Amino acid sequence: MTTVLFLGLGHMGGPMAANLAAAGHRVLGFDLVPAALEKAGAAGVETVSDTAAAAAEADVVLTMLPHGRLVLDVYRGRGDAPGLLGAARPGTVFLDCSTIDVAEAREAAEAAVAAGMRAADAPVSGGQVGAEAGTLAFMVGADDDVHAEVLPLLEVMGGRIVHCGGSGLGQAAKICNNMVLGVTQIAVAEAFVLGERLGLDHQALYDVMSQASGQCWALTTNCPVPGPVPGSPANRDYRPGFAGALMSKDLGLALQALDQQGVAADMGRLAQAKYAEYAAGDGAERDFSGIIEDIRASHTD
Ligand code: NAD
Repeated sequence: MTTVLFLGLGHMGGPMAANLAAAGHRVLGFDLVPAALEKAGAAGVETVSDTAAAAAEADVVLTMLPHGRLVLDVYRGRGDAPGLLGAARPGTVFLDCSTIDVAEAREAAEAAVAAGMRAADAPVSGGQVGAEAGTLAFMVGADDDVHAEVLPLLEVMGGRIVHCGGSGLGQAAKICNNMVLGVTQIAVAEAFVLGERLGLDHQALYDVMSQASGQCWALTTNCPVPGPVPGSPANRDYRPGFAGALMSKDLGLALQALDQQGVAADMGRLAQAKYAEYAAGDGAERDFSGIIEDIRASHTD
């Protein structure tokens, strides 16, 4: 049994913590939102208010938070709140599963190591459904020994775990994958809109592309028009799914990395701009495949 201090019991963290508790681990949970704490408590998580005291009992401090700045604040402290790096026992593993900037992930890991701790970044894909089912995909950036130590926990919460390399490389894999996803979802939507204008039936185009070189996840799982894939968000008025706000966030992280590394990547940059625009409107709460409606509404002269 491992004692895990779990911070961030939201859409993803709540069910992940519940799965760890159900597997027999001791899970100490904290969130700023009382309703999230209450729900986790009902799912077998021991809720705590003093995170520094809880960190001193933990083998692993797991964060599932909205942004990298929050992860760094939790690690190093901010204002009156003490940093958990100063409260945990030496050698404790700080495992961040949030999606954050590669540079911030490396900064967090360096701070952990400098404080005598060990660190891993392990962002996920699979959404809330995967978090509930315990089938998330984890992309891990960590030294071999730390990866081996967290693997049994990740296997409870996930179905596929890939060790991508050292610190920050889990985050690197996540943003590279999501950059492809953002670009392909737009490309598939553009193809359907062009097909519509040319008089091509959605199902006919799907039947061709899904068996041809245009085949991809954005088409065969997340098809942006209703009909061909009954489970896709297009069949439920683009209720997520993966909300436009989250795609915009992930492409923003990809853009930061592209700039830092001096990579041109025109397609990725254009997808980032399109999703920032989509998420600034009602796309924030809708599935990211709903961007097809913006494409349909825009005309060239
Ligand atoms: P969420 O907003 O539902 O949950 C985040 C939780 O963190 C909230 O309950 C918030 O109150 C809590 N929190 C904020 N600051 C805190 C602090 N200092 N201490 C403790 N708790 C704190 O977000 P989510 O959808 O669960 O996403 C979490 C992370 O997972 C994000 O980085 C997101 O990008 C990533 N992610 C989300 C999805 C998805 O489909 N939702 C998929 C893959 C990855």
